[in-house]
Amino acid sequence: MSTILIVAEHLDGKLNTSTARSVSCAKAIGGSIDVLVLAADPAGVAAEAAAIEGVAKVLTVARAENAHALAAVLAPQVAAVAGKGYSHLLLPSTTFGKDLAPRVAALLGVAQVSDIMAVEGVQTFKRPIYAGNAIVTVEAPADALVVGTVRTASYPAAARGSAAAPVETLSLDVAVPAHTRFVGLAQGKTDRPDLQGAAKVVSGGRALGSAEQFEIIYALADKLGAAVGASRAAVDAGYAPNDLQVGQTGKIIAPELYVAIGISGAIQHLTGIKDAGTIVAINKDADAPIFEIADFGLVGDLFKIIPELEQAL
Ligand code: FAD
Repeated sequence: MSTILIVAEHLDGKLNTSTARSVSCAKAIGGSIDVLVLAADPAGVAAEAAAIEGVAKVLTVARAENAHALAAVLAPQVAAVAGKGYSHLLLPSTTFGKDLAPRVAALLGVAQVSDIMAVEGVQTFKRPIYAGNAIVTVEAPADALVVGTVRTASYPAAARGSAAAPVETLSLDVAVPAHTRFVGLAQGKTDRPDLQGAAKVVSGGRALGSAEQFEIIYALADKLGAAVGASRAAVDAGYAPNDLQVGQTGKIIAPELYVAIGISGAIQHLTGIKDAGTIVAINKDADAPIFEIADFGLVGDLFKIIPELEQAL
């Protein structure tokens, strides 16, 4: 039977939904599922993790050095716990997981399976390649620990269970490197829904023309209670901040509704919305590639259509 360890992602004492999504992937593998919480004070996050359906046990490591998620500091601790006989170690394929997982895999001397989007067997997984243009089936060696990152957009968050899993405190005798230290965290603060977890997203592209004109995207998003996204062209031109970029080199998202406004639909953008539910596109070019994947399309000038849409809403 597989024994799976998931490293919890958290910030400001709150568990990220990427952890519950990783649990869904672990369920597809089958076996027992433990969650590891590394923090200065893990109690609150551990309680949230213990409430996820399917979690057998939550392990916590409380250390002052774990106050901030520094991959260099966390890696030797995760490797020490994962090396205690687990068959699989899973992390979300987010900035957090993509930074940490390869370090752990290197410390354990195993190869990493990245971006798991489907489980075919306990060692066999599907993952996207060539910016999502192709899907490859990969097989991890049978006799080694599988270190994998989970494409969170491919899995729903596991629900809350009826009973909380037990929480166990570990005391690890592991030296952590001192060459990496926390200096500061710069993050955009917004009252809008988080782009990666939002049910609805409205995105704007190069066609918006300026940061001032991009404001109409925010206004429409607010009317819909949606998060705001942007194409890379809009980000590179300075119309929208970098953390709003959707796509291959931005965020991979799976909202129920995605509205692409003035976005052509380049493959690198579409990679980020592959798992979206309903896609609506507004573009003045009827031949724009975005219409090939859109469920609803409006051909016309966005500066005319958006005010009309807002009025109707
Ligand atoms: P454009 O392609 O210029 O499209 C603008 C669209 O707006 C056009 O279809 C046009 O018809 C329409 N339009 C113009 N005026 C109006 C109007 N008034 N009303 C309505 N419609 C109008 N891109 C991403 O988005 N995310 C990524 O993560 C990403 N990663 C990349 C990684 C690599 C390695 C590379 C090479 C590229 C990457 N790109 C990414 C860039 C990508 O190839 C495209 O260049 C980019 O997505 C184009 O952005 P856009 O659709 O906003 O602009």
